Amino acid sequence: MTFAGSGDGESGSERAHFVLVPMMAQGHTIPMTDMARLLAEHGAQVSFITTPVNAARLEGFAADVKAAGLAVQLVELHFPAAEFGLPDGCENLDMIQSKNLFLNFMETCAALQEPLMAYLREQQRSPPSCIISDMMHWWTGDIARELGIPRLTFSGFCGFSSLVRYIIFHNNLLEHVTDDNELITIPGFPTLLELTKAKLPGTLCVPGMEQIREKMYEEELRCDGEITNSFKELETLYIESYEQIARKKVWTIGPMCLCHRNSNTTAARGNKAPMDEAQCLQWLDSRKPGSVIFVSFGSLACTTPQQIVELGLGLEASKKPFIWVIKAGPKFPEVEEWLADGFEERVKDRGMIIRGWAPQVMILWHQAIGGFVTHCGWNSTIEGICAGVPMITWPHFAEQFLNEKLVVDVLKLGVEVGVQGVTQWGSEQQEVMVTRDAVETAVNTLMGEGEATEELRMRAEDCAIKARRAFDEEGSSYNNVRLLIQEMENKTNACG
Ligand code: UDP
Repeated sequence: MTFAGSGDGESGSERAHFVLVPMMAQGHTIPMTDMARLLAEHGAQVSFITTPVNAARLEGFAADVKAAGLAVQLVELHFPAAEFGLPDGCENLDMIQSKNLFLNFMETCAALQEPLMAYLREQQRSPPSCIISDMMHWWTGDIARELGIPRLTFSGFCGFSSLVRYIIFHNNLLEHVTDDNELITIPGFPTLLELTKAKLPGTLCVPGMEQIREKMYEEELRCDGEITNSFKELETLYIESYEQIARKKVWTIGPMCLCHRNSNTTAARGNKAPMDEAQCLQWLDSRKPGSVIFVSFGSLACTTPQQIVELGLGLEASKKPFIWVIKAGPKFPEVEEWLADGFEERVKDRGMIIRGWAPQVMILWHQAIGGFVTHCGWNSTIEGICAGVPMITWPHFAEQFLNEKLVVDVLKLGVEVGVQGVTQWGSEQQEVMVTRDAVETAVNTLMGEGEATEELRMRAEDCAIKARRAFDEEGSSYNNVRLLIQEMENKTNACG
């Protein structure tokens, strides 16, 4: 167990003690590190549950909260990977080599139930007040019931996508749809929404996924509320509808990444970036404000080599400065060969290529960035919203196509690059989903001068201002964090 902050329960049992149980995948863990920081900044105590390999990745976070004197404690539980047929040390979804191992991974997570229960029972000086668990950790429901404390879930989705997901499941909407290309209208959604089956969440074909999904949903129905990394003013209609339809409290406390707004802690989010951050900042400083396009597809999307090449050629043809994050790694050596075979040399005056992990928020929030090509993972989307830059949407899988709809059709903060098909997680598709011409056109539209683009920019700036207002003192998200802590404190004191 690693102690990261101060306030080791010494202030007594009145202080609410939140137990955060993130899914071990960067897109799920990173927002929960922000959540931990946020709750602790507002006076709560936080136990952050992790495993040894993931704890090593969280060193930057642990150092930051310690330096800030926050009461955040990293609790390392042994992850019995080998017992469930996983390679030793395989403790994160981004380490799984085949989607056939997904079920093994989920079973290993569920095996954390007993050690977590034992750890929580030991906390007699400062008993837990509440569990906030990733929705995928359905097994935390039993722990909360046994301890007699509330369990809130965190899905990582925005309100818009959460509502769609809820409607799909509760109406068994996809059960009898055999054609992936069939257009489905979402019944009861507050605005007209149509998408093909393949582009809706809940269609990931991973062996064992159905069983997990059932358990997750059952436990979600029993939970005491949900935490959402969004803000009320962004999607009021959808959040209110979701609360009404699902009949549960939805606590919007985001954008949680804004807890880094006044500090230099953005670079420490997630993995350690392999590149020199100072050099990256120097490069950005040398560019005109709003002139650079940032291209990044999150932590899990697997873009094929053919598609990477096509994207690169589109960026080159646009003639715009860019930072491009490529995660081909050793899996696709042909990408490295292609980069070395002239591309990097041709674009060296205006392009920066980052291999592997990038300090995304540090880059996105730099004034040189004027546009963001994103896969529409919700974290990236909300980070882009906070940056106040318009987006080019390039969804791959899961709820990313829904986030695209929200960004382009509802909020009008971006343009679609025009993805036709789904690039499923863990599948080895070979087709090119987006041509170089489509990339060039979208980049030139977003980074160009036209009236429509100017409007996109103004809306993006306006939205970033609203995000800050919601997050700052007396804003809707700020007040929700306070109310949430108060509610848990009242419950703790009533029981104690
Ligand atoms: N991220 C990062 N550097 C990278 C890739 C991703 O910092 O090179 C962060 C990104 O800022 C976001 C998270 O990882 O906070 C990815 O979450 P998202 O929901 O956007 O996508 P996912 O990875 O879950 O598909």
